[in-house]
Amino acid sequence: MKIEALPSPNFNDRKHPIDMLVLHYTGMETGQAALDRMRDAEAGVSAHYMLWEDGRVVQLVGEDKRAWHAGVSRWQGDEDLNSRSIGIEIVNGGHDWPLAGNVLPPYPDAQIDALIELCAGILERWHIPGSRIVGHSDIAPMRKQDPGEHFPWDRLAGAGIGLWPHSDTAVTANRTENARLEKELDLIGRGLSRGDTGQSVGRMQAMLADIGYDLPQSEKYDEQTAACVQAFQLRWAQDRVSGEADLATLQRISIVEDLYRRALDEA
Ligand SMILES: [Zn+2]
Repeated sequence: MKIEALPSPNFNDRKHPIDMLVLHYTGMETGQAALDRMRDAEAGVSAHYMLWEDGRVVQLVGEDKRAWHAGVSRWQGDEDLNSRSIGIEIVNGGHDWPLAGNVLPPYPDAQIDALIELCAGILERWHIPGSRIVGHSDIAPMRKQDPGEHFPWDRLAGAGIGLWPHSDTAVTANRTENARLEKELDLIGRGLSRGDTGQSVGRMQAMLADIGYDLPQSEKYDEQTAACVQAFQLRWAQDRVSGEADLATLQRISIVEDLYRRALDEA
């Protein structure tokens, strides 16, 4: 694939081997504004790649160098994710630049096709487990919402990029999972929400932490818990982004935890 080199001064040396991929949206009015910012030494931010809406790819930082895109973030117990990851900024206005009617600007097919090709190349060059291909919101849930609930994680997973439960697994699991979860979590058919306390909340927190979210088992449904639930929904339950763990969200958390646990066991 053709990649245009437009170097950024904003990078330094890695302190860890590469084993993560972090996807972002630019969240600015235009791609040009994002590109200019990432090449401005004063701004102190960058990414390895930026992807235009029409699928053109720009490389700002060499893959062997540490780009500055993740900020304060954690995943599966790791910190300094800039040192561990390759970061891709996908041009999209996101939540700050919605279309008329407060609709999130869609990711064009040409852009996603190019993203898949770019990611496939990265996965050939580096050993990056599926469970470590994440969105910025996954690793900084209190601060970030990108790449957003309009990002097609399922399409990427269909192309071998990241983990996604097979729909037949999800449907089968839904029937049995519902009963099992209600029993296990003592949910009495209502799910969990902000302000709840107790073992059910602790169990949900443990499942989210098993996937990789930075969440202590406080047994309190506090703001950090709500942020992690919302980050989970942005990716895995995109039709119900609220930070509230209704039964459908809890089922989904359980299914994804199972998927990640099996992937981690195999690794
Ligand atoms: Zn981001």
